[in-house]
Amino acid sequence: MSSVPTDAPLDAPALRERVAEFVSRYDPATTKQEDFLAARFDAGLAWVHFPPGEGGLGAPRSLQETVDAEFARFGFTPTGRERLVIGLGMAAPTILAFGTPEQRQRYLRPLYTGAELWCQLFSEPGAGSDLAALGTRAVQEGDSWVLNGQKVWTSLAHHADWAILLARTDPDVPKHQGLTYFICDMRAPGVEVRPLRQLTGEAEFNEVYLNDVRIPDTQRLGSVGEGWRVAQTTLMNERVSIGGQPEPREGGLIGTVTDTWRSRPDLRTPGTHDELLRLWVRAEAARLTKERLRQQLAAGQPGPEGSAAKLAFAELNQEISGVELEMLGQEGLTYTDWTFRRPEGIEFTERDAGFHYLRSKGNSIEGGTSEVLRNIIAERVLGLPAEPRTDKDLAWKDLPR
Ligand SMILES: Cc1cc2nc3c(=O)[nH]c(=O)nc-3n(C[C@H](O)[C@H](O)[C@H](O)COP(=O)(O)OP(=O)(O)OC[C@H]3O[C@@H](n4cnc5c(N)ncnc54)[C@H](O)[C@@H]3O)c2cc1C
Repeated sequence: MSSVPTDAPLDAPALRERVAEFVSRYDPATTKQEDFLAARFDAGLAWVHFPPGEGGLGAPRSLQETVDAEFARFGFTPTGRERLVIGLGMAAPTILAFGTPEQRQRYLRPLYTGAELWCQLFSEPGAGSDLAALGTRAVQEGDSWVLNGQKVWTSLAHHADWAILLARTDPDVPKHQGLTYFICDMRAPGVEVRPLRQLTGEAEFNEVYLNDVRIPDTQRLGSVGEGWRVAQTTLMNERVSIGGQPEPREGGLIGTVTDTWRSRPDLRTPGTHDELLRLWVRAEAARLTKERLRQQLAAGQPGPEGSAAKLAFAELNQEISGVELEMLGQEGLTYTDWTFRRPEGIEFTERDAGFHYLRSKGNSIEGGTSEVLRNIIAERVLGLPAEPRTDKDLAWKDLPR
């Protein structure tokens, strides 16, 4: 039993005390990771701003960092979390915001412990940037929905147990109004996952066919026709989870390249020195901006500012990986492994310089392209006039395709 009184104030010292008390019962060195995480969820120390019983304590979101740092100080830093980016970064905040109490009870705990993996079935061949144009149909039959359609670029669908999914439930209304958001069982009959091989040689993502897939109405997230509003929560969180995560100084690719610079004097030239310094300063400015964003986030859901963080992340990754290749010269041109692989998670800094260079190309596409993010910043941050949209009031079924 916990010795920390449940009515103790939820401030940083109290949370540190809760963590200390927790690790006195669950030794990070000897407890299996999944058991440790399950107990941490039950103690409300998973994501402290979530409600009690759902992995949190209803504490201010800003205190999460204190809790994470305290667990790390006691030697607990979970591994393999790159498999969970979609579950933790996108599905969890959406389920918290729109899920019924039963849905929150059912999905959040195994999502947090890593017992169940998630993917995101949003994009389609004709609907990426213009996501609201999507055509996967969901038709209600009794207390279930029958889905037919094709999704594409679905990262980690080959590992996933569950998907967050957007489908069209009413083609007779304008495109944004006829969408509904579902949770799809990836093992249900009719779900077919096919690998798509990428520039890197890996197949991190897939195309997913839905052939008469039945989804019980209890797996609908939000009201019928409310899918676009629900999806906004997912998308805002996606941008933050791809490019807006706080990291230490020299975290990410800039750290990899500066390490090479320091350890390989033979590679140094005045030109790459100059470029590397310039990128180091930009990476540091981006890091500090993300830190400010994190503090704003402590007050609620991410807003359009996350789009700027994700845009800067993509541009920097592409430029930094270019300098890394230049610095390595001939060595950088050898690509160590182009065998077909199905990676376990989403990783940008693993492997070699060639991989960094090729994988970073996707950074300006995934989670919203850089052009689309610039539009969001223009309209929603800077207040510039919106792009002309001629299809806002037309029924989806009457749109040219
Ligand atoms: C590595 C990777 C992983 C991904 N993982 C997932 C996933 O797990 N789940 C998922 O659902 N999707 C995923 N995606 C898909 C991704 O969200 C889409 O690729 C993206 O939204 C762009 O859509 P599109 O590919 O259809 O390109 P399009 O929307 O067809 O865009 C083509 C070009 O037109 C430009 N463009 C489009 N509209 C505008 C506009 N209004 N103004 C200016 N320029 C515009 C775009 O910027 C782009 O350059 C992933 C993509 C990548 C690369």
